[in-house]
Amino acid sequence: MSKANVIEIFSSVQGEGKYLGCRQIFIRLADCNLNCAYCDTNFLRADCCRVETAAGSMIFRDEKNPLDAAQVAEIIKSFCGEVPTHSVSFTGGEPLLHWQFIGEVSSAIKNLGVKIFLETNGTLYNEFEKISGAVDIVSMDIKLPGVIGQNLFKVHQKFLRAAQEKNLYVKIVVAGETTLEEFLAAVDLIASVDKEILLILQPVTPVGGVKAASAEKILSFQAAALRKIKNVRVIPQTHKFINLL
Ligand code: SF4
Repeated sequence: MSKANVIEIFSSVQGEGKYLGCRQIFIRLADCNLNCAYCDTNFLRADCCRVETAAGSMIFRDEKNPLDAAQVAEIIKSFCGEVPTHSVSFTGGEPLLHWQFIGEVSSAIKNLGVKIFLETNGTLYNEFEKISGAVDIVSMDIKLPGVIGQNLFKVHQKFLRAAQEKNLYVKIVVAGETTLEEFLAAVDLIASVDKEILLILQPVTPVGGVKAASAEKILSFQAAALRKIKNVRVIPQTHKFINLL
């Protein structure tokens, strides 16, 4: 039985992307293999995981880390019993650093009929392939070199190919600093795999000194992307407007 350092487990609403507004159970796993300037997530290992006492209560108790897969599966079953739930979101950090754990939790909750949703930075394609059969929906980021200080396009392309048969969509965070050139390079990357893949253009929520993109910039970027691929939607992070987790 696998164990993992888990930051928090709670039931809330997906605040980004294609499944915006869907009720989900979030399993936030520790650790990340990247260091993005706009990162607003606590993914550092902790002695205890905070677990919501009831689905959506926003009241938490502590569970000692690491948690084992059966323990997490029981929490998911309990939350699903309280609130009909669209999907279980494995998020992070980078959840695929704990691919074995995700596989075991997914297998333990298979009979609940809840979808398995993976929020990933789209770099660990080997790890994804090991559990792709258990995953229903993939929300994959493409990280732009100007924002994270390194070019990950080659690994992103391998990840896109590994996940393209899934219910896959791609998210690109656009900041004030983002250039049209690097954004379109990312769009070309998507087009090189499949022009039908949905792209969510997510205006950055400005944190850590990162500047917001103007409305004109967002509209012109969407227009430029739509000349290359078929489906491009602009969706900001919404959970922050109403103080959801
Ligand atoms: S990949 Fe995600 S969790 Fe990791 S540093 Fe970047 S924004 Fe933060």
